[in-house]
Amino acid sequence: MGQESREERLQRIAARVKQANCAEFEVFVVEEVCGSKMNAGADTRNKKIYFAEQLVDRMTDDDLAGVLGHEVGHVVNQDGQRISSYQGARCQEMRGILRDANNEMKAEGNGKLRRGFTLAGASALMLGITVLSSLAFKRHYEQEADDFSVDAAGNAGYDPAANANALRKLDPKGAESCFTMGTVISTHPATGARIERIIKKAAEAKQKK
Ligand SMILES: [Zn+2]
Repeated sequence: MGQESREERLQRIAARVKQANCAEFEVFVVEEVCGSKMNAGADTRNKKIYFAEQLVDRMTDDDLAGVLGHEVGHVVNQDGQRISSYQGARCQEMRGILRDANNEMKAEGNGKLRRGFTLAGASALMLGITVLSSLAFKRHYEQEADDFSVDAAGNAGYDPAANANALRKLDPKGAESCFTMGTVISTHPATGARIERIIKKAAEAKQKK
């Protein structure tokens, strides 16, 4: 009997996670995800989950079930759609604020050039606020996906804390590469905090059984 291929292995684990959680999704092995050879990601609109080849090779079956559980969490929670509708709403809001500010300044008799400068400054500031708050939303979605992973992996008979083990392997120092810029700008919460949270949830889940 030949050895199980990378693709077959991932599909076998995915089938178990899918069945145990009544979740609908497809998984694919690709060379890289978002420019990284050690990454996984989800196209939540189309319910497609991608794993980089090297990530699959580095992970145990449990680890893969944990990471898959996290990505399935994004799909089930429709996080791609949630974030774009949030950003869309913020853009509408921002345009309204700028229009009002423009009209007010016009009423106050400010010249067009002056208005242009002031508004450019205001819109850059507001754009910054929008980006930061949407990152806060994304971090919240990451936590929800981590929580989902505990149940998804556990239900399928894998280690509920597997996502934490996978994170530890990917990031042994407990800090993401972008973490140097501070937790505020990082889309994912600091890895150390995520690991702790997952382990705590997994211990609670094991106790309930
Ligand atoms: Zn995520």
